[in-house]
Amino acid sequence: MIEKSLVLVGHGMVGQRFLEALFEQPDAGQPHRWRVTVLAEEPRPAYDRVHLTSWFSGTSAEELTVCPPGFIEQHGIDLRLGDPATAIDRRARTVTTRSGVELRYDALVLATGSYPFVPPVPGHDAAGCHVYRTIEDLEAITASAQHATVGAVVGGGLLGLEAAGALRAMGLETHVVEFAPRLMALQVDDGGGAVLRRKIEDLGVHVHTGAGTQRIDADENGRARTMALSDGTDLAVDLVVFSAGVRPRDQLARDCGLPVGERGGIAVDEHCRTSDPHIWAIGECALAVDGRVYGLVAPGYAMAGTVARELTGTGAEFTGADTSTKLKLLGVDVASFGDALGTTEGALEVLYANSRAGIYKKLVVSAEGRLLGGVLVGDAESYATLRPLAVGKSQLPGPAEQLLVPAKDARQGPLVLPDEAVVCSCHNVSKGAVRAAVSEQGMRAVPEVKNCTKAGTGCGSCVKLLGSIVAEELEAGGIEVARGLCEHFTHTRAELYEIVRVKGITGFSRLLDEHGSGEGCDICKPAVASILAALGNGHVLDGEQAALQDTNDHFLANLQRNGSYSVVPRIPGGEITPDGLITIGEIARDYGLYTKITGGQRIDLFGATVDQLPGIWRRLVDAGFESGHAYGKALRTVKSCVGQTWCRYGVQDSVALAIELELRYRGLRAPHKLKSAVSGCARECAEAQSKDFGVIATSDGWNLYVGGNGGMTPRHADLLAADLDHDTLIRTIDRFLMFYIRTADRLERTAPWLDRLEGGLDHLRAVVMDDSLGICAELDELMARHVETYEDEWAATLADPERVRRFVSFANAPGTPDPTVRFVHERDRIRPARPEEDGFPLAPALIAGPALEVRTR
Ligand SMILES: Cc1cc2nc3c(=O)[nH]c(=O)nc-3n(C[C@H](O)[C@H](O)[C@H](O)COP(=O)(O)OP(=O)(O)OC[C@H]3O[C@@H](n4cnc5c(N)ncnc54)[C@H](O)[C@@H]3O)c2cc1C
Ligand code: SF4
Repeated sequence: MIEKSLVLVGHGMVGQRFLEALFEQPDAGQPHRWRVTVLAEEPRPAYDRVHLTSWFSGTSAEELTVCPPGFIEQHGIDLRLGDPATAIDRRARTVTTRSGVELRYDALVLATGSYPFVPPVPGHDAAGCHVYRTIEDLEAITASAQHATVGAVVGGGLLGLEAAGALRAMGLETHVVEFAPRLMALQVDDGGGAVLRRKIEDLGVHVHTGAGTQRIDADENGRARTMALSDGTDLAVDLVVFSAGVRPRDQLARDCGLPVGERGGIAVDEHCRTSDPHIWAIGECALAVDGRVYGLVAPGYAMAGTVARELTGTGAEFTGADTSTKLKLLGVDVASFGDALGTTEGALEVLYANSRAGIYKKLVVSAEGRLLGGVLVGDAESYATLRPLAVGKSQLPGPAEQLLVPAKDARQGPLVLPDEAVVCSCHNVSKGAVRAAVSEQGMRAVPEVKNCTKAGTGCGSCVKLLGSIVAEELEAGGIEVARGLCEHFTHTRAELYEIVRVKGITGFSRLLDEHGSGEGCDICKPAVASILAALGNGHVLDGEQAALQDTNDHFLANLQRNGSYSVVPRIPGGEITPDGLITIGEIARDYGLYTKITGGQRIDLFGATVDQLPGIWRRLVDAGFESGHAYGKALRTVKSCVGQTWCRYGVQDSVALAIELELRYRGLRAPHKLKSAVSGCARECAEAQSKDFGVIATSDGWNLYVGGNGGMTPRHADLLAADLDHDTLIRTIDRFLMFYIRTADRLERTAPWLDRLEGGLDHLRAVVMDDSLGICAELDELMARHVETYEDEWAATLADPERVRRFVSFANAPGTPDPTVRFVHERDRIRPARPEEDGFPLAPALIAGPALEVRTR
């Protein structure tokens, strides 16, 4: 097959999407294939600029990459990093690079993006003045911030507020200077801007609107010192970030005579082709056929798909895109969609504003009652439902005000969406397609619908809406959506928790007798055991409770693949003495255990048999160690960085707080495991934002994040509250944990719980900080009881010979170790033997305990 040369100039987000789309296209009988060369100005492959700000909270440049591993090699792409194109010769069809290389092309795709606009005010190039577009820019800002105390951001738009958030997180006094009379002037109206401003000012950021930057004065070292504003203010600053808009990078096109727009942007037609039939332009550098230069990534992606299909012979058009956005800026939800500013002739507005709660919502409707657009600030929950209605200019299903007020009316849900409404914009899946997957193709759960339609498998922002549509469709079809815990209880876990708490039930049998049926199963037994333990009903191995526990809780250790167990003593905050280390080392040596440092900053001892557990724990308890609850659905660890005590950047003592939190919440049983971390500054070395509850020190106190997790479905935690003092922090975490334990489903971690929680983060904040449900006193009391009644499970086990008697491999031969638990040596350590190594088939580990479970009624 003939090879043709394709040169892509610019390896940004849109350039990378173009490459992916190009190689995804089916071979449409093309007589040639493309040999691709990519010229990249930046020193690294394409990365996620949209999430650039997460670099400040510890996401590395590598983690931000959007270029899948092996992608470049797999497609034989010649990627030339750090060698930008400097000239195009359209007659010769060549591109020259900075290093002097000349490349011939049959097709040339320009994806050069934008550059930040810096107003040409005197002093704009002083030391300490920056822009905010690349990883190198952020590195430079971080270096400057080391010597700075006050920072100012020029521009109060989307990027400006992101930059302000970053400066504030670095501990700088932060100012935002915006020329327009309101923040985010392009996206929100005056009312929304006012609410946004109040919320941002509440966080301690100083906002100056209607003020231009006139001059930046430098000190004798050439470093920014003051900033003169047009309203007469002189701001003392030592760091400035310009975020006053972007301009298309169209110089290459201008230089070779390609038409560009009056205000910039390489002019293209509906196929994204320039006036030269061999040259295309996509992304932020292009002036689309509708006369717009799009500054968002989704339209760029659509352009990339259009050109990829053009070049592979399948043909496509780009005539315009929806610019709806939903963002979280400095922790504030902001969404704008459709004709947000109400510019359509005859447009009417319906408003809901609650200044106390910091909520502003506006719908723009036509005289005929069609939804045209809207603005949401402070509560953007309804964005998923409203955006598709506005994009489709659909008739409103009822009075507009009902869509705005925070009512419990079911008609606010996905039922109001017409079938043609696109619920997943990443894969262009309509509500009708989701409904058909349930009603016609027999899908019964969200994962099945995701597999079948691809909806929810892109950015994931529609998954919640997807779940509601699936549930509604099942209900509409008369298919019962079982809410009960299992076949033995028709109640949810949250309902059972309330029943146990209110009626003071202390045993499984009574709960089953009064509220369930049958004998119970391995779903309801551990769930009820966890509820009983969470409400402080004695030792988990006592009486009837013992028979409810799953295998890990049964032996207070973690079952491993060959039937042996691992032992994890608690090491609060990861802080351990040399003597402690020696004790653990001696125990490991004496019992021949495999030792490994865990990600939670403790030491895991592997390879213990059931009968060895009490002996090992006797020595650990004698040396002052406690159960680390690594086996339980309970608090695991509170990880910490070294913090202010040792680290040059630390602003608070993160280790002391981590130890305090770990000791406070140790042994707290929950619907799922709980992880936590404390970082001593915004650099976030302890990764607190990936934990169920994480704390980051600020110069004014502590920021509390909730609902994060790593694992298979990572989720960044949300900022629940900022700059809390110590006591408020502890009280807020107490309530958050108890509210979660009370209302979550079985085996539901805080991340999906928070996503599912009606009213989301704002509701949670109202419950735990403003006591909106009037339950805080109860939550406080439950936590106080937990703290008072805590006892170490292993110490209590060893103190009772009845409990110790459980730790045998065979009920009828107590002294006999399990002979199927075998090890071999590797790298001077033990590991479980494989079937071919020890002659025993590696049967599933024996789950049965030394006692037969007999239910007594
Ligand atoms: C902090 C931040 C937050 C953002 N948040 C959002 C958001 O929430 N939602 C949203 O939709 N968008 C957001 N954006 C905008 C989004 O990042 C852009 O729309 C998107 O990156 C555009 O992609 P692009 O490939 O067109 O341009 P870019 O990503 O800028 O890539 C262009 C690349 O071309 C390179 N280049 C330029 N000239 C040459 C040359 N002559 N030779 C070789 N290479 C060259 C550049 O160095 C760059 O690497 C944000 C942007 C920033 C900076
Ligand atoms: S204080 Fe902690 S989070 Fe901050 S830089 Fe030091 S180790 Fe990292």
